[in-house]
Amino acid sequence: MKYYSTRDKSLHIDAAEAIKMGLSRDGGLLTPCEIPRISEDFLKELVPATYQERAAKVMALYLTDYSEAELKGFADNAYDPDKFDTAAVAPVRTVNENTHCLELWHGPTSAFKDMALQMLPQLLSAALRKTGEKKTVCILVATSGDTGKAAMEGFSDVPQTRIMVFYPKNGVSAIQELQMVTQEGQNVGVCSVVGNFDDAQSGVKRIFSDVSIRKTLEDRGFFLSSANSINWGRILPQVVYYISAYCDLVRDGKLTMGDPVNFCVPTGNFGDILAAYYAKKMGLPVGKLICASNCNDVLTDFLRTGIYDRNRPFHTTMSPSMDILISSNLERLLFDLSGQNDAEVRGYMEQLTKEGKYEVSDAIKAQLKELFWGGCCDENGTATTIGSYYKDKNYLIDTHSAVAADVMEQYRAETGDKTVTVFVSTASPYKFCNHVLKAVGETPVSQGVELIDQLQSVSGVAAPRRLKELKGKTRRFDLCTEKTGMDGVVLDFLK
Ligand SMILES: *Cc1c(COP(=O)(O)O)cnc(C)c1O
Repeated sequence: MKYYSTRDKSLHIDAAEAIKMGLSRDGGLLTPCEIPRISEDFLKELVPATYQERAAKVMALYLTDYSEAELKGFADNAYDPDKFDTAAVAPVRTVNENTHCLELWHGPTSAFKDMALQMLPQLLSAALRKTGEKKTVCILVATSGDTGKAAMEGFSDVPQTRIMVFYPKNGVSAIQELQMVTQEGQNVGVCSVVGNFDDAQSGVKRIFSDVSIRKTLEDRGFFLSSANSINWGRILPQVVYYISAYCDLVRDGKLTMGDPVNFCVPTGNFGDILAAYYAKKMGLPVGKLICASNCNDVLTDFLRTGIYDRNRPFHTTMSPSMDILISSNLERLLFDLSGQNDAEVRGYMEQLTKEGKYEVSDAIKAQLKELFWGGCCDENGTATTIGSYYKDKNYLIDTHSAVAADVMEQYRAETGDKTVTVFVSTASPYKFCNHVLKAVGETPVSQGVELIDQLQSVSGVAAPRRLKELKGKTRRFDLCTEKTGMDGVVLDFLK
């Protein structure tokens, strides 16, 4: 299968090349030329399979220049029991008869980003081999908190790779920051940016498209790529867990094969929910895709009106990984819904750059309405939901998952839809101890990692081992830059 750019369909490249590049030179996102269909028989075969087998089978449909055996090897490494604290990898927890929760935070950094970022380094290393690449790839990451750590964990000491992470100085939780600045590995670098996530992301995009930086780095034996969800190698491993969740529900008798299921996804950059869209498009019986936002509700408005308008205040919330006003992956959705019309997508993206705003065609609006439902949840609602899940359902969930749980109920109340719904839990509550403690009615006794013990003794839920170990770790990095200084940081890192 070939890949092309959402802004230029004349580009036709293999998956390995797309994963290596990360982002197309024209600023577009690399996207498969067609979406493969899966049959009910295909799904039936996956029902008794392990997560690793499911991953290999699903990814092989898209990565035709990789063999299924090769992909199975990668899946075995990525989702190894050493790294994931449950053999199920991405378990589905039943909340009640028609509500389930897909827990995606059992990996090494306790956020769903591990699901893809344990896989991407292997796909990328293989891509370097397959394309005969001799230069070292430098992964540039802008993170709203979880991607940075998960990417460093995945790429740490992987040969022929370097990784530099930028995070917003006051935009991540204390534990997220500590996870990043204590990262081990000879090839990693971390730097905070004075600004918010969008500043960090714009800075990284600017460096990507800067011809003179590229040339300088090339002369030094480096080229740049991305581990953000603009890289196709991030999206594809995420398609797997929607299919896997469906198979689990069928296996456990919670669903009959062929019955529809809704997914409700806490959304930031639109990567996670886009993967659910691809799963639906492939033929997985999915009803509504419910897009949950926090107070940064640009997507809620977009799904309701067809107008994307980033000209609004940016809010720093207790669900920082969703504090985003420019959702990059929406571009892939627009590309698909426009009938793969690259000129139309280019137009929208130009307007977004110039005016911070665009309105999609009536044809796209109609499809958005059919496929999606958008809702948002404020800080109060987030805390209340954590509290009620804990008290009424004996289920401790994090701030991002709570946004999803709340929006799912809003959707049900507004539409009366009784379809079985899976909401996606994207982080361990232990990454956000401070807010979670307050939400369950406790007063945090101290700060940062110290709160892990408190939350554990209050809730009786075991904290992830790797988070507990943070306490003894030394800080390795304390670099900070203005957003205009990001170029210099990268050039320094790649001396
Ligand atoms: C990244 C992240 C999200 C948002 O996912 P997108 O793919 O950016 O929409 C939600 N919750 C958590 C915990 C995250 O780390």
